[in-house]
Amino acid sequence: MTDSANPESTAFTSALDVVATVEPRIADAIRQELTDQRESLKLIASENYASPAVLAAMGNWLSDKYAEGTVGRRFYAGCRNVDTVESIAAEHARELFGAPHAYVQPHSGIDANLVAFWAILAHRVEAPALAKAQAKHVNDLSEADWEQLRQELGNQRALGMSLDAGGHLTHGFRPNISGKMFEQRSYGVDPATGLVDYAALRELAREFRPLVIVAGYSAYPRLINFATMRDIADEVGATLMVDMAHFAGLVAGKVLTGDYDPVPHAQIVTTTTHKSLRGPRGGLVLCQEELASEVDRGCPMVLGGPLSHVMAAKAVALAEARQPGFQQYARQIVDNSRALADGLQRRGATIVTGGTDNHLVLLDVGGYGVTGRQAENALLDSGVVTNRNSIPKDPNGAWYTSGIRLGTPALTSRGLGVAEMDEVADLIHTVLSQTSPAATADGGASKAKHRLDDAVASKVAARAAELMAAHPLYPQVDLSASA
Ligand code: PLP
Repeated sequence: MTDSANPESTAFTSALDVVATVEPRIADAIRQELTDQRESLKLIASENYASPAVLAAMGNWLSDKYAEGTVGRRFYAGCRNVDTVESIAAEHARELFGAPHAYVQPHSGIDANLVAFWAILAHRVEAPALAKAQAKHVNDLSEADWEQLRQELGNQRALGMSLDAGGHLTHGFRPNISGKMFEQRSYGVDPATGLVDYAALRELAREFRPLVIVAGYSAYPRLINFATMRDIADEVGATLMVDMAHFAGLVAGKVLTGDYDPVPHAQIVTTTTHKSLRGPRGGLVLCQEELASEVDRGCPMVLGGPLSHVMAAKAVALAEARQPGFQQYARQIVDNSRALADGLQRRGATIVTGGTDNHLVLLDVGGYGVTGRQAENALLDSGVVTNRNSIPKDPNGAWYTSGIRLGTPALTSRGLGVAEMDEVADLIHTVLSQTSPAATADGGASKAKHRLDDAVASKVAARAAELMAAHPLYPQVDLSASA
């Protein structure tokens, strides 16, 4: 099809031509990014490809508008179109996930978690202190009462999944602000099975008595029982917060239901919108009514002014996720993930927990005699984009690691199915079985540098490129039509 016969392509290529009139190097980088994405076999579990409609909703003049506040209660004039956008996005989020309240302003997953933590602190610590002092607002407190409240806010506890079990930095770890806000403890997984040990978690919660229990992960390949998590939280008087950033697409697509759907069980749920949910980069908070007014104070509490253009793109992505095809997509993500794990196992690879129930596979590369870092680089040399990840009790630590995290949301968006996953498993196994550590200057084995025959890497890269060419990305966009 020629570009002139294809309005979607014309829209994108014309936009690039406009960019090029001001800064051609940026237009070139954008074009190159599409070319790179088209050619690479993307197995990064946290990435996806947003639809042309989502991308178009993001690149426009909504970006110019300031809209601090919430729908109908803005600190700026002239927000009627932003009100429309934000209320449609929130309505889609509520309907899609069956949540009483949705807040669509967070700029990212980290921001959504910050909003959630502060909403919980405001509800559980600040509101009772204000009531006790018979004050309506923090500005009404005396200096002494305010100082006491500040100390109390800073003296709370959170319990989250450990990093090497698949938890996320924002769940109370020191390098992130959450670790500076809360005294934190972590729950891990059973060393024998690699699965969450709910009995051990309950014991830890009884002893530690956290204000918040955080469930959710970035590298745990199994299901979490949120009904059990809520039961534990209730027993110790904690608020259950679930970060479903990674698996929101599986919740939206009704793959995770009943005890495995966090929304009916947690008081507050956060997510990103750009991973398995396939929307624009951004965040979202869902909550029960009791936390709604505190959540809505996210901006200016911890967020800058809302990104109206991104809220528009979230609305489009959420509308897409409400269409029946999305449920088929979500099921295919998990089928593909299982097929990938099976394909690797049949070739002798070790999979953490022995398989997967979600969108990701955690490959223990120790059996190939390399570190996660070496595996990641060897695969990258061969046109396969993955990322290294710790495995439980990782002997190589968080920098070199012993794992590779593989995710199927992006390849599933490109239309790859179970049969192709076997080919992908073969590419990964071919590379890793021929990769070895490079020698260090003193003759030891490097943890960072690897050795892989160029011919092997080129052959695998050619096979990966062929697979990608058979499943074109944004086929409606004809870059040759742009200058
Ligand atoms: N929460 C989890 C579980 C994640 O995996 C991530 C990102 O990888 C985040 C939060 C942070 O998301 P963002 O990068 O959008 O801030």
